[in-house]
Amino acid sequence: MTEKPKIALYWCSSCGGCEESVVDLAEDILTVSEMADIVFWPVALDFKYKDVEALNDGEIAATLINGAVRMDEQEEMAKLLRRKSQLVMAHGACAHLGGVPGLANFFERQDVLDRSYKEVPTVKNPEGTLPEVQSVAHGRELELSGFHDRVRALDQVVDVDYYIPGCPPTPELIRDAIIMALEGRLPPKGSVLAEKKALCDTCPRRDSRPERLRIKEFKRLHQTEWDPEKCFLNQALICLGPATRGGCMARCIHANMPCRGCFGPTDDVRDQGAKSLSFLASMIDSKDEKELERIADSIPDPAGLFYRYSLASSLLKGKIPG
Ligand code: SF4
Ligand code: SF4
Repeated sequence: MTEKPKIALYWCSSCGGCEESVVDLAEDILTVSEMADIVFWPVALDFKYKDVEALNDGEIAATLINGAVRMDEQEEMAKLLRRKSQLVMAHGACAHLGGVPGLANFFERQDVLDRSYKEVPTVKNPEGTLPEVQSVAHGRELELSGFHDRVRALDQVVDVDYYIPGCPPTPELIRDAIIMALEGRLPPKGSVLAEKKALCDTCPRRDSRPERLRIKEFKRLHQTEWDPEKCFLNQALICLGPATRGGCMARCIHANMPCRGCFGPTDDVRDQGAKSLSFLASMIDSKDEKELERIADSIPDPAGLFYRYSLASSLLKGKIPG
């Protein structure tokens, strides 16, 4: 009997949602398991590090890695899986662009540690102890994974062949990516496996999006009653559909929520946040400095909004240290 190709799944700095999206394959997981053997999937199967180490280089046909990279352990696993795999796919917005964990790059490493271990009201840490790579507690030596200065997207750590976008990606995109990899039907290396065009092109509300918008004030969802059939931007509600890749089946729009950009930029855009800022700025209808300030102030947390998923892979990559 011919051996089936092998696939692996791994998570780095992840909320677990991307793992859930694999579980959401439902009966399609049977199609995948008929075509391939899953040889590593820590969240679901009890394989060990040494099982991966024992494989030949390139023995895994395709590995899907979700989550951003911030710890030594994650970097080590990403490098090991890269060596053992013919293809590595960045699975989900965190691996693709740094994702929500990448927002930590607005702060320096020490600020993150102080906040997490000393300042949050639910933490009781009177001695202000911070985790160290090597420490001794109750006479025992303890070793923890090192915590890096910055959050990185997967391709800032290892070579990535393909990207499956989304927070999380749809199960359909994951299924198609795995099947295309196993059947050798993939597009050129480096492709993002979703639509090429922006979400607006396939949005069910696109017919109500005017060519030219003139906005005097941006509103938040709770500040207005909005028409569930009409383009959000046409109602002065911020929607990042014009600066975001399509292919998500407009899940948020169907749930009556504006796009927040999790599929990342289209192929011709380098920095999704800058693109979002530029298209919104082009809609502002004023030349008066005071009024411009007032309109800009109606956008809450602009940096967090425009770079929610892509800060770690943006041009600046976060706060400039110091
Ligand atoms: S992409 Fe979204 S769902 Fe996936 S690990 Fe990151 S935050 Fe979670
Ligand atoms: S701006 Fe948003 S609601 Fe309007 S067409 Fe684009 S994706 Fe749809």
